[in-house]
Amino acid sequence: MHQWVTHSPEETMAFSECLASYLQPGDVLTLSGDLGAGKTIFSKGIAKGLGITEMVNSPTFTIVKEYHSGRIALYHMDVYRISDEEDIGLEDYFEQDGVTVIEWAENIPSWLPKDVLSIAVKRVNEQERIITCAAGGTRSERIYEEISKDERISH
Ligand code: ADP
Ligand code: MG
Repeated sequence: MHQWVTHSPEETMAFSECLASYLQPGDVLTLSGDLGAGKTIFSKGIAKGLGITEMVNSPTFTIVKEYHSGRIALYHMDVYRISDEEDIGLEDYFEQDGVTVIEWAENIPSWLPKDVLSIAVKRVNEQERIITCAAGGTRSERIYEEISKDERISH
């Protein structure tokens, strides 16, 4: 199991920007980690890597925001306020041609597809974060293997 350490928000964004280069339509990524760990920063790097030019902010109140200006559409979700008992129809997004990134996905385990790349961001101190990834199927395994051997991101 690889782990990556970053020392600034810029480094975390550089990591996720690099990861984004391997994403294909229909991929689903989940982001877990405490408030302030860097999940939204990570999502911004994904957006940048997909070539999205719009400003990406945390969709805490809207739950989902869609961005269509990049190479692949991005569905950015924040389910901080959602519980697993609620059916808010998020699964419709997983069938579409965009990439889905879900912050606080641990809140909705029943609604997630099996083949997701689960990313955890752990705060070590003010500037340092540990990033770990786990693949749930063949699609996410491919992404995991690509980033594990990518020399643009040190580990
Ligand atoms: P979350 O979405 O997990 O609640 P945010 O991405 O909104 O967290 O915020 C992360 C905060 O941590 C930002 O203020 C960012 O500047 C700061 N930070 C400091 N070091 C890092 C790092 N290495 N990676 C990501 N964020 C960092
Ligand atoms: Mg956030």
